Amino acid sequence: MTPREGITEGSCLCGKVAYEVTGAPVRAMHCHCTRCRLGRSAAHATNFFYKVDQFRWTRGQSLATEYKVPDAKFHAVAFCSHCGSKVPRISAERGVVLVPGGSLDTDPGMKPTGHIFVADKAPWFDITDPLPQHAQMPAG
Ligand SMILES: [Zn+2]
Ligand SMILES: [Zn+2]
Repeated sequence: MTPREGITEGSCLCGKVAYEVTGAPVRAMHCHCTRCRLGRSAAHATNFFYKVDQFRWTRGQSLATEYKVPDAKFHAVAFCSHCGSKVPRISAERGVVLVPGGSLDTDPGMKPTGHIFVADKAPWFDITDPLPQHAQMPAG
């Protein structure tokens, strides 16, 4: 996919859902919490955060289905109801959009800056990069 200046694009596996974001992510982290691992069926999530006004759906918004963990304050995942890929979730209450890194089709221009909730890390997964590791969420 040819990158467009200042725009990062993403989509799901079947291609029915697509989105774009304008500008750089606010932050990006690898999250090892149990909810992220189960929600992504992966060793960990890689989450990019944007402000709500940076984000827009370009296709298939109606297929983006949300599951909120019943006993969680905020934690939810959004997925394409056709193919099951994780797609961005707009968290209006926090004013952020959480973009699953694996759904990005073009380079967001920023790499994750650390690992969080390492206390919950999968025992079969080793972190081999030099990024800072936080047992929970770093303060501040
Ligand atoms: Zn899909
Ligand atoms: Zn997490």
